[in-house]
Amino acid sequence: MSLTFENITLGQRVLFGYGRAAQHLSTEVDRLRARRVMVIAAPPEAGIADRVTADLPVVLRHSDVRPHVPVEQADAARAAAAECGADLLVCVGGGSTTGLAKAVALTTRLPVVAVPTTYAGSEATNVWGLTEASRKTTGVDDAVLPVTVVYDSELTLSLPVDLSVASGLNAVAHCVDSMWAPRANPVNQAFAMEGLRAVADGLRRIVREPDAVDGRDATLYGCYLSGVAFASAGSGLHHKICHVLGGAYDLPHAQTHATVLPYVLELNAPGAPGAAHRIAGALGSATPVAGLNALRKELDAPRALADHGMRREDIPEAARLILPYVPPDNPVQAGIEELTDLLTRAWSGEPTRDGDTA
Ligand code: NAD
Repeated sequence: MSLTFENITLGQRVLFGYGRAAQHLSTEVDRLRARRVMVIAAPPEAGIADRVTADLPVVLRHSDVRPHVPVEQADAARAAAAECGADLLVCVGGGSTTGLAKAVALTTRLPVVAVPTTYAGSEATNVWGLTEASRKTTGVDDAVLPVTVVYDSELTLSLPVDLSVASGLNAVAHCVDSMWAPRANPVNQAFAMEGLRAVADGLRRIVREPDAVDGRDATLYGCYLSGVAFASAGSGLHHKICHVLGGAYDLPHAQTHATVLPYVLELNAPGAPGAAHRIAGALGSATPVAGLNALRKELDAPRALADHGMRREDIPEAARLILPYVPPDNPVQAGIEELTDLLTRAWSGEPTRDGDTA
């Protein structure tokens, strides 16, 4: 069969270097000729942000960051950006902080330079998200794609091991779900497989030696590739499920992804043998589910939605809410019965059919 595909890779500058965030930010601010920088960082990351932005022409430090970007916080940050006359947004933090900067960019069209401190991968995508009255809305707009990402794994050393594992497994989920996402193609699959290999290797090293540079570097590099793959391939079944669960039941983002992934992989892999083969190869295992389970076991990964605030009685409603979002080209049937089964097992952390979940 001949090879036919369409691929879009988003245009973005990436500066990667351990201990170089301050220097790389200065370079970028000069290159972009920015004179009035608004820094967005949540209070826990204020120390990191102050350190890496000390040499920049900062006119405002904005710290009201909340998970899932509530629309009220987005409006307040937009007003603050207008009031201080910002000409550049610099966000320092996890996906919630990047998300707030994107929300400001969406309406103000200000450029964003992102300095990630987790493995969420949002900085590599043109996807924005806003939450209003417990409903999360997402959209795509190139104006929210950070013009530059400054990766410095020194800034992730303070991320505790359990959060690093959950966040890194969110990146693993980007890679795995990219394999059968609506715009999956050989290019974004190549990014996804190298991302998967790098994050799996990096997380194993972080668990063994949390302060070592090589594990942090490998995970951050892999998380960037995971974001690129996800932005190019789009959302598959896994992201649709986690998106609904996060919005409807206020579950923590990274832990939800980490918990649900084995069950989606178990469901989809038999219908996508090419993807299954590649995922297994990247994980160095005979089958993809066994490879993910082995990784999860080594990392002591989050294992049950019940541990993160979901109630058993929410499962039937959750299945109904997810159903309309199931991608039409998902490799296997995912109706109410399959979704209910998947959610029930993810809720209790039941072993997958290819071995133990954790
Ligand atoms: P988060 O940004 O909420 O951070 C999680 C926790 O980690 C917070 O308490 C934060 O203070 C802490 N933290 C961050 N960096 C730290 C560090 N270096 N040391 C110690 N603690 C640190 O969570 P997240 O998982 O990074 O991001 C989740 C959000 O990102 C969700 O809202 C999700 O929807 C969004 N997201 C969006 C996209 C996209 O493409 N738009 C992609 C992935 C995730």
